[in-house]
Amino acid sequence: MPDTFAHCLVGVVAGRCINGNWKLYLLAVVLSTLPDLDGLIPLHRSLLHSLLFLIPFSLAVFLVLKRRKYPIKTASLLACLPLLHCLMDLFTGGIPVKLFYPISNTGYQFAYIIDTFVEALFSISPYVYYLEATRVDLILLIIIFVMVVLSSATKSHKKHNSPNA
Ligand SMILES: [Zn+2]
Repeated sequence: MPDTFAHCLVGVVAGRCINGNWKLYLLAVVLSTLPDLDGLIPLHRSLLHSLLFLIPFSLAVFLVLKRRKYPIKTASLLACLPLLHCLMDLFTGGIPVKLFYPISNTGYQFAYIIDTFVEALFSISPYVYYLEATRVDLILLIIIFVMVVLSSATKSHKKHNSPNA
C-alpha cells in the first residue's frame, strides 16, 4: 500500500515532466494524493477511489485546465494523476479498491499479478525485502519511467517539428 510520500512523489515527477511552476507542482501533488482524502472518513479506497468519481473528476480537471489555456500535455497529465493514484493502489496491495462504489461494494486488488515478478527478484537478491514495499517501489518505478519517457518523447517530437529545428 503506497504511503502519502509515494503518491506525492508521482505528483512531483509529473510537475517536472510538464516543466511546471510552483503552482503546477502543488496542483500535481494535490491531484496525486487527493483520492486518499476518503481515508478521513470510514470510506477509504471507496468514495474517492471509485471510477464513478475519478473519471468525471479527471475530465473536469482536464476541461478546466484547457479552458485556462494550458497545453493538452499539461492538462492530460494533471487530469490523469487521480487515476494513477488509483492504479498504484490497485497494484500494490492493502485494502481492496472499490472501483464502482457506490453501485458495487466489490473491492479489487491486483497486486498478485506482479508478485510472481517481485518474488523472482527476491530470489536473485542477497538482501531481505518486504513484499509490499517492493511492490510500491516497482509500481513507482514503472509510473515514473512512463511519465519521463512520454515527456521526453513529446519534447523530442516538438523539437523535430519546430520551424527552427
Ligand atoms: Zn489511495
